[in-house]
Amino acid sequence: MANNLLTIVVPCYNEEEVLPETVKELGKILNDLIEQKKINENSKLLFVNDGSKDKTWQLIKQYSQEFQYVTGIKFTRNYGHQNALLAGMSLAVKYSDMIITIDADLQDDVNAIYKMVDKYHEGFDVVYGVRNSRETDTFFKKHTALTYYKLMQKMGVNLVPDSADYRLLSKRATESLLSYKERNLFLRGMVPLIGYKSAKVYYPRKERYAGTSKYPLKKMIHFALDGITSFSIAPIHLILSLGIITTIVSIVLMIYTLVQKIMGHVVSGWSSLMISIWLLGGIQLISISTIGEYVGKIFTEVKHRPRFNIEDENYTNRMDDEREK
Ligand code: UDP
Ligand code: MG
Repeated sequence: MANNLLTIVVPCYNEEEVLPETVKELGKILNDLIEQKKINENSKLLFVNDGSKDKTWQLIKQYSQEFQYVTGIKFTRNYGHQNALLAGMSLAVKYSDMIITIDADLQDDVNAIYKMVDKYHEGFDVVYGVRNSRETDTFFKKHTALTYYKLMQKMGVNLVPDSADYRLLSKRATESLLSYKERNLFLRGMVPLIGYKSAKVYYPRKERYAGTSKYPLKKMIHFALDGITSFSIAPIHLILSLGIITTIVSIVLMIYTLVQKIMGHVVSGWSSLMISIWLLGGIQLISISTIGEYVGKIFTEVKHRPRFNIEDENYTNRMDDEREK
């Protein structure tokens, strides 16, 4: 079977606690799919160790010696979830006909992989994993996520609601995605941009199998803001409108003040003065920093720095060896 090779890319940052279970669960899925002759027998799991500080990499190496279907990439340091996904896809695209990306923590139901592969065989190039329940998410996360997706859509960014980085891409879809060369990655915004025939597969989102979230609130906010400023210049338009409104208001105020003065009312207006100063100061700071965000983006983009560096990797060799057989 020369085709239908599947690689499942799994980013890992300090995931020693879940890794054994992840290897077991995903290994079982691969096995089933191979038995059902839906994927090539050389299909692989590709773990991307994103600069973990625990034993994640030792575990990955150990498993890859034990199981032919387990392979790994080791980054030189932590480059972040999105870059880990990208690295996995960049290596896998050469050998794979389809690539699935999934988190290591088993929060996303692995059984959706069967449906994704079926969709691939039906001719879809992009298959989104969409959560049909968020019961295990906190009230806060559920609502912020929902508001965020809505806000993004309002700003003209095409996102598939409740889909994250759990998806299948065909070889050509992955190649298209990899031709987007931006440094500030927001993959879930980029995938809809590549086009192709896409399908959705629904699954329930569970609790993390073990370990704790590697996306603390601060990282989540950064990621969310990154998504906005990488995909939309709506905030800059907003600043413009804000500026226009403020100017109109200040003209009205000016006329009012002048009239008051002419009529001889001595303005004692300390309050109005303070309010104007603080309000305008605030608006100006927000505006400048918003523009700064975009300038910062340009700054990081023009440097063209590598998006990741690989220290060690055993995927390519293994794939080449198997290809020659
Ligand atoms: N991850 C990563 N690098 C990081 C942070 C996270 O590779 O810097 C991985 C992590 O190991 C997991 C996935 O990204 O496989 C999603 O992270 P997590 O489950 O902690 O996020 P949450 O589900 O809580 O949003
Ligand atoms: Mg998670």
